[in-house]
Amino acid sequence: MTDASSFKALVLNQQDGKTVAELTTLKTADLPSGDVLIAVDFSSLNYKDGLAVTGKGKIVRRFPLVPGIDLAGTVLESASSAYQPGDRVVLTGWGVGESYWGGYAQRASVKADWLVPLPDGLDSHNAMAIGTAGFTAMLCVLALEQAGVTPEGAKPVLVTGASGGVGSVAVALLARLGYRVAAVTGRPENETFLRELGAVEFIARETMSQPCRPLETQLWGGVVDTVGGRVLARAVAEADYGAAVAACGLAGGVDLPTTVMPFILRGVKLLGVDSVMCPSEPRRLAWARLSRDLPAATLERLTQVVPLADVPRLAEAILAGQVRGRIVINPNA
Ligand code: NDP
Repeated sequence: MTDASSFKALVLNQQDGKTVAELTTLKTADLPSGDVLIAVDFSSLNYKDGLAVTGKGKIVRRFPLVPGIDLAGTVLESASSAYQPGDRVVLTGWGVGESYWGGYAQRASVKADWLVPLPDGLDSHNAMAIGTAGFTAMLCVLALEQAGVTPEGAKPVLVTGASGGVGSVAVALLARLGYRVAAVTGRPENETFLRELGAVEFIARETMSQPCRPLETQLWGGVVDTVGGRVLARAVAEADYGAAVAACGLAGGVDLPTTVMPFILRGVKLLGVDSVMCPSEPRRLAWARLSRDLPAATLERLTQVVPLADVPRLAEAILAGQVRGRIVINPNA
């Protein structure tokens, strides 16, 4: 690829204090410097992309910026001995799509250290059907496993925000691994979708959002929480003695209205999960597990593919809690 080569990109700018997203044409020379130039096959839409593209989250500090917090594609040029042209790679996190140009373009220039070789068994499309959300779901499952939660446990594992990106992949992963999965959703119309992914019990978001005592009846052997707030507080109050709660999200708020009692009297373990700065070794391990534990047919069921032009509309929709499952972005469509 030469500097004259042009490519399609979604670019964020600021006009009158507002974030504006524009589909435009860039040249390779416009890209920030990086070790590796990638032909992007697919990116995906995550909650954080919603915040970036709409400007509601104030997470983009430098404009212009190509958003898109993840990507999968093929190496075109590499100044790093770790990667050769033709290698298939996946990238999530590290501030890409926030502080650095990201995946909503046909080309990306990135640091070699941010990349993970695409594991055997995954193609670019499936890697972005997983994307940041699915990678985070896997980190949550790994955190529960490390805390001793097993499929043989007497009580089910609860997943909150179940129809969302992280939630739906967590449901599918846990069910595939043999856990009994209970799903919290505010959209009863998604119960069939969630049942197909493997959920066997359903709890209304409204029920989970009611104020509760710090200790309630013990119902859950483990929890993957993507929403925070009162829902997380109730999940903690209903966690079984010694259970682990993997908390990764705040779609329902940043507060946690509970006390120390569940942690002291029931030994509940609250495990914070961060995908952005996750070090390289556990990152590769999580991708290897994703390729092993998530069948392509399951990924197909929870995914829709859209072109770059649809991103601004869907960015609003994901913040409004209206997106179901995973959205893969095809910059080449
Ligand atoms: P989605 O919007 O796809 O999913 C969030 C889901 O939460 C919705 O689908 C909805 O599910 C539920 N929900 C929406 N609004 C509310 C509300 N007000 N109260 C309670 N539940 C609500 O987002 P993602 O799955 O991409 O991300 C989920 C969260 O995880 C976000 O906060 C995101 O920032 C965070 N995250 C964190 C990561 C990390 O590294 N820690 C990485 C990736 C995401 P339903 O309709 O079924 O109730």
